[in-house]
Amino acid sequence: MRSGCSVAEVNEVIGVVEDAGGSAFVSRGVARTIIGVVGDDDVLANLNLTAVSAVAEVIRVTQPYKLVSREHHAGRSTVVVGSGELAVPIGPDDFALVAGPCAVETPEQTLEAAQMAKRAGARLLRGGAYKPRTSPYAFQGLGEKGLRILSEVRAEVGMAVVTEVVDAHDVDVVAEHADMLQVGTRNMSNFALLQAVGVAGKPVLLKRGMTATYEEWLMAAEYVAQRGNLDIVLCERGIRTFETATRNTLDISSVPMVRALSHLPVMVDPSHAAGRRDLVVPLSRAAIAAGADGLLVDVHPHPESALCDGPQALREEELVELSEACRVLTGALGRRG
Ligand code: PEP
Ligand code: MN
Repeated sequence: MRSGCSVAEVNEVIGVVEDAGGSAFVSRGVARTIIGVVGDDDVLANLNLTAVSAVAEVIRVTQPYKLVSREHHAGRSTVVVGSGELAVPIGPDDFALVAGPCAVETPEQTLEAAQMAKRAGARLLRGGAYKPRTSPYAFQGLGEKGLRILSEVRAEVGMAVVTEVVDAHDVDVVAEHADMLQVGTRNMSNFALLQAVGVAGKPVLLKRGMTATYEEWLMAAEYVAQRGNLDIVLCERGIRTFETATRNTLDISSVPMVRALSHLPVMVDPSHAAGRRDLVVPLSRAAIAAGADGLLVDVHPHPESALCDGPQALREEELVELSEACRVLTGALGRRG
């Protein structure tokens, strides 16, 4: 309360809280009075107590996201992608390396990239059929044709597939072909899309918005969870900072922070964070050491001719180096790789 507030003003706040079904506990100091409020936090958060002129500040102690929070689910979750022989768990005990071409370009390029990924021990294949490009003149992806290529390669190589959906209208067709739906950084706040993937019946890979706080990211996950889908894997992919040497700045702190706030698995995409292949292995090592439950990396059989993100795509020998680093580090940390 503002200093010097009257008993009547304190009682006014107590009245508002009690009318809403909550309880209020008054703590009177010499200079300040603090009113602790307990009850249904959704109801209380909407009370607009700052409209009472004697209220100086309202501080929310509970988190605004529930279903994805550690407060409501103490243990850490494992999300299983794909089914039967292709099932891949991602979680505290099960680290997953996910690799593939940024964009599906041709059947041959997708198959080659998938075989590279499989040989190196990657668990899931990732490739984009719908590409959210900064420039409208850049390659936008093959759309449904790309999804069909992914389905064919999935069957041929025997790997479950992760692919991005950029529009709520495409969720059904993408879900027909994919084992996991990726929501990209540019769509993290597309609430209609989040709600649509929440009812699509497939696990969701939710990338962090490039300017999103942890709370905003977890609120985005809450949109998916609220629709009944708790199979969500979070993915840190770098944020916008003043540094221009890398495409984005990988926020390593997000891994232990978000793991503490949420029970959902957290992966790291060092490729889109750095934008340069020479940083992918060192950033991956850092991510595993920080507690990441998996990595998402771009690979390409011929990065020099890639239609999208060639400079960050690993070649086979670099992917093998990465896979070896994953094996050594996850082993040292006592998790299954
Ligand atoms: C991608 O994974 O291909 C992609 C576009 O990533 P982001 O949304 O993180 O930029
Ligand atoms: Mn990309």
